[in-house]
Amino acid sequence: MCGIVAYVGSREATPLIFEGLKRLEYRGYDSAGIAVIQDGRIAIRRDVGKLVNLGELLEAEPMAGCIGMGHTRWATHGKPSQINAHPHLDCTGRLVVIQNGIVENFRALRQELEAAGHRFASETDTEVIVHLVERYLAEGHDLVTSVRFTLGRIEGAHAIVVMSEAEPDKLVAARLGNAGGVTVGLGDGEMFLASDIPAILEHTHQMIHLDSKNVAVITASGVSFMDLEGNSLSKEVL
Ligand code: GLU
Repeated sequence: MCGIVAYVGSREATPLIFEGLKRLEYRGYDSAGIAVIQDGRIAIRRDVGKLVNLGELLEAEPMAGCIGMGHTRWATHGKPSQINAHPHLDCTGRLVVIQNGIVENFRALRQELEAAGHRFASETDTEVIVHLVERYLAEGHDLVTSVRFTLGRIEGAHAIVVMSEAEPDKLVAARLGNAGGVTVGLGDGEMFLASDIPAILEHTHQMIHLDSKNVAVITASGVSFMDLEGNSLSKEVL
């Protein structure tokens, strides 16, 4: 289970996320990637190997945007490759996901989704998550409801973050079981998210940890929490 860092605020997300991922390097990983919303569209850079490779790619092909997510992957399903590195996109390219963990029933879900016309780009278990969210969005649900419904379909332990061009001010994060932590860091007009505290400790000491079956909706100005049924939760700031 590897690293997650995400940010929403008024600063450039990419360097901040990249520095956060560097602080999680000790966990080990085989590839890494970052997605931001740039001028209303999702932009992604991914590469295999060490973060220095992703850093070089970002220098050659920079991204700008004040909301984004990053991931270091330890491959469990699908070889370490650029295509299998997170973040993963849906069919429309307007929705993106990162995951720590394993979707144990991904084969059945992939078959179901392919039969419904979804096209998969990677070999990973993770990609079923983004296509499930896409499907619920297409049925008319909002992003957080679509994520909640998706969490009800996947088996295993997961930490996930989802971002959509349709709701470009927010990150939706969730934790199911123990695939590493999910911690929200509270800032002033900005919010941070990480699988491990060291990734964001230089920015804030005000943290809220998600328990299993918690969903967080994070914008620059605030964060709200709910359970998988959508009931709101009040969480303690540590
Ligand atoms: N199972 C996922 C994959 O192989 C996530 C691995 C991880 O936690 O880094 O892409």
